[in-house]
Amino acid sequence: MSDATGCAGARPTTDPCSRCDLLLGLDDVSVESVERGAVVMRVTVSAAWQLMGCPDCGVVAVSRGRRVRVLRDVPHGDVRVQLVWRQRRWCCLEARCSRGTFAEQVPALAAPRAVLTRRAVTWAVGQLCREHATIAGLARRLGGRVGDAVAGGQARAATTCGRPVPVRGRHVVGGR
Ligand SMILES: [Zn+2]
Ligand SMILES: [Zn+2]
Repeated sequence: MSDATGCAGARPTTDPCSRCDLLLGLDDVSVESVERGAVVMRVTVSAAWQLMGCPDCGVVAVSRGRRVRVLRDVPHGDVRVQLVWRQRRWCCLEARCSRGTFAEQVPALAAPRAVLTRRAVTWAVGQLCREHATIAGLARRLGGRVGDAVAGGQARAATTCGRPVPVRGRHVVGGR
């Protein structure tokens, strides 16, 4: 069982809760709601609306609703954290442009097709670098595949700490 809580019900994106946002600590998204279970905490987030130009032609795009993208974030103690990002979709209607539909990107949050938030990647690489973590252990704490950015952490960790880092147990645990 989990308790579904929003500070005052689910927050509309036009009226985010500053306390929840401060707790989450990610500048570019706001918390809409939180469900905390014994194993996983799901935090639903969205980015503020902004006028969106087509990345190809610059013409103002029209909304195509949202899709849900689940990102795995830095664990909160023993509880895994999933960010449920209600990612906006846009469409370019300019006749001479072939872009079509495209998704909102928040570069500070996650790389375009990543399964982990950027800060989870940084955290995981730090765990490899300083805490003798294994890929299998990180997969367990993050709740699934750690992704190439972390599996390739040997190279990144070597850059980060200035020494080679052995990566043991490269197999991954669980699904998404
Ligand atoms: Zn709040
Ligand atoms: Zn366009």
